[in-house]
Amino acid sequence: MSDLVALSNAKILDGTGKEPFDGTVLIKGKFIQEIGMKNSIHIPKGSRVFDLAGAYLLPGLIDAHLHLTGFRSGDIVKESLLVPYEVLVARVVQDLRALANAGFTTIGDAGGAIAVGIKKAVEEGTIVGPRISAAGYTLSQTFGHGDEHYLPIDYVDPRESKFRTPLGSLICDGVEECQKAARYALRCGADFIKVSATGGVLSERDRPEYTQFTIEELRAIVQEAQHAKRFVHAHAQGTEGIRNALLAGVKVIAHGIFIDEECCKLARQKDAIVIPTLSIVEHIMIYGREIGIPEWGLKKCEQVYKAHVENIRLAYSHGVKLATGTDFLGGVKAFRHGDNALEIILMVEKIGMTPMEAIVAATKNAAEAVGLLDTTGTIEPGKLADLIVVKENPLENIRVLSEKNNITMVFKEGTLIKS
Ligand SMILES: [Zn+2]
Repeated sequence: MSDLVALSNAKILDGTGKEPFDGTVLIKGKFIQEIGMKNSIHIPKGSRVFDLAGAYLLPGLIDAHLHLTGFRSGDIVKESLLVPYEVLVARVVQDLRALANAGFTTIGDAGGAIAVGIKKAVEEGTIVGPRISAAGYTLSQTFGHGDEHYLPIDYVDPRESKFRTPLGSLICDGVEECQKAARYALRCGADFIKVSATGGVLSERDRPEYTQFTIEELRAIVQEAQHAKRFVHAHAQGTEGIRNALLAGVKVIAHGIFIDEECCKLARQKDAIVIPTLSIVEHIMIYGREIGIPEWGLKKCEQVYKAHVENIRLAYSHGVKLATGTDFLGGVKAFRHGDNALEIILMVEKIGMTPMEAIVAATKNAAEAVGLLDTTGTIEPGKLADLIVVKENPLENIRVLSEKNNITMVFKEGTLIKS
């Protein structure tokens, strides 16, 4: 059988920001071989042809900041400690399927124990799901965001703990411990290093404004990542922590709640990417109480919600490169995997991006944010054939990307994983 597939009669939205055009995409094996305008392309005999009848063809969507935890409630303490680890892994398998059905062909797992292991099961085809770029364990200082100070300290660091928890962090203080922790994360298979440069909303005893790690510690972590040809992705919410991370050479800033003008300029100068994760904040505001988010988390969320949206608008107006990431954790309705296109919609509705800009944020920019722009994120010859067919025009109504019956086909590496 031929390994050629032709997607003809498509309106191609290639992820680069270029206006859609009518054409045909030819796939050979895992890769995009050729893109032809209108009927200019010769479809070789024996190709499997799909006539898309004028439907839209986009690069597969990418969520560049989420967590595969298997959680099914907002009670993070209970989910972490009382649900058997194997049950969490089984739920993650279900979540990966939901992501694929929603048009996601790549995800960035921004910290956690499960993704970095289960990615092999996806690669070998044992389970269906998006390609995973994973951080593995997050690096956190003592009393940092990742230190999970809502748990007894014995449970947190996998190097010390007898318990397997789905989040877990490498606790490190001082340059040497940071180097060692970064190397340990790499040993565990990290595709990039995740570090918490500030406090956060879902960490009990700190706040988003708190600065975590010194700039020297952050520099040491960035250097370890660079030595291994990788990059650093920082949880950074307070202004000083964002600035420190950027100055230290961190490539990806997640959340960016209190990003200010100076940091916006710095982000542009350094060609850093900001992943606002508007979705989790929005959904904790709507569903938080109902799904059991602890009171301390709800309160902080309410305090930062408005400033977050305003400051991301500022970053957008400065031309900072933005990428989509939901920070969703699992199947409960506030952060259900499969609903991840919400971030694209919020970028349009809350930040004022054009639908085209939001699509670029969810494809090209998000691919760069997970370190995979060389292979995916746009429809170009030589890239992996990660493609989705969308019935209605997302440029007219961005919400069609969140309607699963509008995403009629999903190809990952040339293989149809939803039809
Ligand atoms: Zn996160």
